[in-house]
This record gives sequence, C-alpha cells and structure tokens, in this order.
Amino acid sequence: MPELPEVETIARGVNERVCGDRIVEVWFCGHPQPFKNSPEIQSKGLQNRAILAVHRTGKHIVCELGPDGDKPASASIRPLEERAIKSSAQWIVHLGMTGRLLVTTPDAPLAAHTHARLTLASGRELRFVDPRRFGRLEFRDLSHSEPFSAAGVDPLAVSAEEFRLLFHGRHLPIKAALLNQKLLSGVGNIYADESLFRAGIRPRRQCVRLTRAELEGLRLALREVLEEAIRMGGSSVSDFVDANGMRGLFQLEHCVYQRTGLPCRRCQRPIQRMVLAGRGTHYCTHCQH
Ligand SMILES: [Zn+2]
Repeated sequence: MPELPEVETIARGVNERVCGDRIVEVWFCGHPQPFKNSPEIQSKGLQNRAILAVHRTGKHIVCELGPDGDKPASASIRPLEERAIKSSAQWIVHLGMTGRLLVTTPDAPLAAHTHARLTLASGRELRFVDPRRFGRLEFRDLSHSEPFSAAGVDPLAVSAEEFRLLFHGRHLPIKAALLNQKLLSGVGNIYADESLFRAGIRPRRQCVRLTRAELEGLRLALREVLEEAIRMGGSSVSDFVDANGMRGLFQLEHCVYQRTGLPCRRCQRPIQRMVLAGRGTHYCTHCQH
C-alpha cells in the first residue's frame, strides 16, 4: 500500500511532467470499481481542461484543473502553492493497494490493468494502472462541489499546538491514534513504528500519559522520517513505482519496521513485535519507554 511519502513522490513526479499541459482525450476501462462518479461524467468533465497543478492531499493525489476550454496554463504557475491556484475542477486519484499513476508516451506498452488513459496536448499520456482495483478516481466540478479535503491534519504541516491537542487526553495507545486518519491523515504502519522508535516512545503508551515534551518529540520525529522517505523517493516496500514507472531507487533504512528479532540499530537488543490496533507493531524495549 503506498504510504504518504510514496504518494508525495508520485504527485511531485507527475506534477513536474504534466503541469501546464492539457487533457485532449480520455479513455476509461469497462470495469466499474475505480470510478467514484461515472466514467461518463469523468470523461466529459476532464476533456479540454488544463492541468494547473498536481499535489498530494492526505494519501490522495489531486489534479487541479482549469476551466473547460481554457487557454493552456503558463509555465510560471507555481505548482506546490495549491492554495494560490484557482482551479475550476479536480481529478482525485486514490492509489488504493496497488494503484500507479504513470506519465508515458502513447506508444509505451499498455500495462495490464490500465483503467484510465488521459491523452495530453504535449503528446504524453497520464495512465492509471491498478491490478487489485482498490484505487479510486473521482471528478469534481468546483462550481457545484466542495474541493477535496482530507479528514485529518497533514502530518507535515501540523503545528506543535495542533499536534498536542489531537492526542491530548485520549485514552488509547499512541500507535492506534497515529494510525487514525481522522486525526492525522496519511500516516501508515511503517511511519508510525519508525517515528515512535525515533521519539523513544512505546507504541502501547496511552496518549493521555504522554508529556508535552514527548508529544513534541514525536511530532518532529514523524516529520523527519516522512521527509527522509520523500527525499529518498519513497521506500519501495511492495511494488511501489513512481510516475516514470521506475521503482523507488532507495529503500528507507527502517530501524524497527519488519525487523523482528534483528538487533536494534541503537542498542543491539532484538526488536520485538506485537499486534496493536490490528497491525503488526515493531519496537525496542530498551530504547522506547
Ligand atoms: Zn534499542
């Protein structure tokens, strides 16, 4: 399952390649699963719109689109300042378990399970490929729909005070709270385990028992591990492929995740595993308190 750093990496890669381009033709597969609204609505909505920017919101990729029939956007649009971009519509891509968003040339071999092909004015194609079909595509016309927003706060943008208030007084293990997408959006199992290790906090600790300093340490640790993984192009745990169709080149050096029984990188004692909130949870009994 692509996690936040993978989604961020893909969104940035796609943005670099398609920002300012225009959708001239849309093809969708016959399967109903990937479509949150009908392929007809999406196809009609997407055609002839400029792509103003592509960015990540939570674990979704959002393509900000210009008005129908607008002139191609100029190259001067600053992609990551999405707040400053006045978009008329959005195409929202959720990668699900195995989804990929690829920028290719039209003659590139068509991967099995390709569900969408958007032909762009530049001659490139934006393709959505998803073997297991848990991914979702949605079109929103912002003249009568709200812009897409994630349920929780973004872990890369959350302030110290916001972070503290999210977890303050909660009677549940901190690991479960980190995974709750209504609190923070986009933190998955790997980065929950890794950030708790880095912050020296046991996954089972109750939120209510964490001090202000511990919570601030955790906020910073979480941001660090996510930013490191983004810098390294996302850690390729399963079959993550970036927007070019390349595998992530670097594997994040996990400290605890899936290292059960291996020596802790800090103290050399074996990493422990337990199941918490239904998820395999990895930690060091010596380095985490
Ligand atoms: Zn240790």
